[in-house]
Amino acid sequence: MPAYPRPLARLIEEMEKLPGVGPKTAQRLALHVLGASQEDAAALADAILHVKESIHSCPACFNFTDSDVCSICADSQRDEGLLCVVSDTRDLLAMERAGGFHGRYHVLQGLISPMDGVGPDSLRIAELLDRVRGGKVAEVILATNPTVEGDATATYIAGLVKPLGTKVSRIALGLPVGGDLDYADDVTITRSLEGRREM
Ligand SMILES: [Zn+2]
Repeated sequence: MPAYPRPLARLIEEMEKLPGVGPKTAQRLALHVLGASQEDAAALADAILHVKESIHSCPACFNFTDSDVCSICADSQRDEGLLCVVSDTRDLLAMERAGGFHGRYHVLQGLISPMDGVGPDSLRIAELLDRVRGGKVAEVILATNPTVEGDATATYIAGLVKPLGTKVSRIALGLPVGGDLDYADDVTITRSLEGRREM
C-alpha cells in the first residue's frame, strides 16, 4: 500500500473491514470522506455511532428496532396467527419488500451450522417455541434459505413445533437450491410463499 498519512491509512483499514469492500474501494471511500465537508464527515461518523447506541433486537421477534417492540410486532393489522421464521433481518426485509406477507416474523439470528459451531442453542429457537406455546400462532412458515443449513434448521424446528399441535409449512422451492431470499426477486419470493407445503 502507498505510504498514506497514518490517519488516512487508519480510515482505509476500517473501510476494508466492511463487507464487499476491497482495498481499492476502501481507498476511494476514504478519500471521498477526506474530501467531504466537515458537516458530512461528522454526519457519517454520528450515524455510525447512533445506530449502535439506538438499535436493539425486538424482544418479541428479534428484528432490529429503535423502539420497545419493532414496527411489525406493534402493527395490530398484521395477522398474529401466521408466523414466518427467517434466519436474519436481511431475509425479513426481502419478504417485506416482496409485499405478499401480512403475518408476523420470528428472526432466528442465524442458522444451525455445526461446521461453524452454531448449534440450536445459539439461535432464538427457545423463544420461537415460547411464542407457539402462547397459543395465538396457527401456522409456522419456515422461510429459511434452501441451503444445507437452511433445510437442516427448518427440519429441526419442524420437529419441535409439530408436537405442539401447530401447523408447520416450508416455503416452496421456487427459490433455486442454494439460493438466497435476499437475492430473489419479489415475484419469486411471493410464489415461494404462496406455494408453501406442510411439513
Ligand atoms: Zn418484533
